[in-house]
Amino acid sequence: MVLDDLGSSLRGTLDKLRGKSRISEEDVEEIVKEIQRSLLSADVDVSLVMELSDNIKQRALEEEPPAGTPARDFVLRIVYEELVDLIGESTELPLEEQTILLAGLQGSGKTTSAAKMAWWFSTKGLRPAVIQTDTFRPGAYDQAKEMTERAEVDFYGDPDGEDPVEIARQGLEETGEADVHIVDTAGRHALEDDLIDEIEEIEAVVDPDTSLLVLDAAIGQGAKEQAQQFDESVGIDGVVITKLDGTAKGGGALTAVDQTDSSIAFLGTGEEVQDVERFEPDGFISRLLG
Ligand code: GDP
Repeated sequence: MVLDDLGSSLRGTLDKLRGKSRISEEDVEEIVKEIQRSLLSADVDVSLVMELSDNIKQRALEEEPPAGTPARDFVLRIVYEELVDLIGESTELPLEEQTILLAGLQGSGKTTSAAKMAWWFSTKGLRPAVIQTDTFRPGAYDQAKEMTERAEVDFYGDPDGEDPVEIARQGLEETGEADVHIVDTAGRHALEDDLIDEIEEIEAVVDPDTSLLVLDAAIGQGAKEQAQQFDESVGIDGVVITKLDGTAKGGGALTAVDQTDSSIAFLGTGEEVQDVERFEPDGFISRLLG
């Protein structure tokens, strides 16, 4: 059964339904409260939590469990379906020539994710290249260069360059032999106008097939505004959640996915280039509710 490794308090509440074939309104209320608690502590947006729990409540009370289905499994199935409905499958990334643009605030993990994703594509038999256009953060060039060396993938950057748009243009030319171009951009500490202007200009030059928003798993309630801003400026097709090896559960990604009507592409699970996974809903949902 999906969601076997649920958090203990939710599991405890659901276990009270063991042996029951019908669920009372009281049971549903209790379960929904528990789910709300889990999602809120995982940093899922408050209004999203309310919307989800209303749907779960309504379905659990109105739908007839299929004959022979224990109440516990029935409710669990509804919870799972509602979350999958929201999160969806991982962002589609065809294993072919493409250009991917990474957006996000400084420190979210863009540069690390660019190298990780390049490594991931290289394991699929493609030839990726990372283009580093971050002229804002000191050390971004060196970091990208080192990481792409470790990932054994092509790299273009200009340590003396001052114009990120020109670097992007040049980078696409210089890495013409690669199949997958991953363009890293500069972040800022906050959503500032010059950040948005810069990424819009880069986007116009790069013309990406896919733009991914990179979010730190600990982003919390700030995810909504970021997602909205980046979606308005470059159009977000998917989300990369980083630092899932920490304690944060990454509920902000759910908010971002909802806000941009997109999906999750990759999960970052450490500082090394190999610490990357394609998103799959089951494990992520268990973690959110855990
Ligand atoms: P950028 O400013 O968005 O390019 O962010 P960086 O790629 O430089 O990442 C910021 C910091 O987070 C660096 O110290 C990275 O090593 C670290 N980092 C990035 N992704 C992960 C991850 O998945 N797990 C852990 N533990 N650290 C990460």
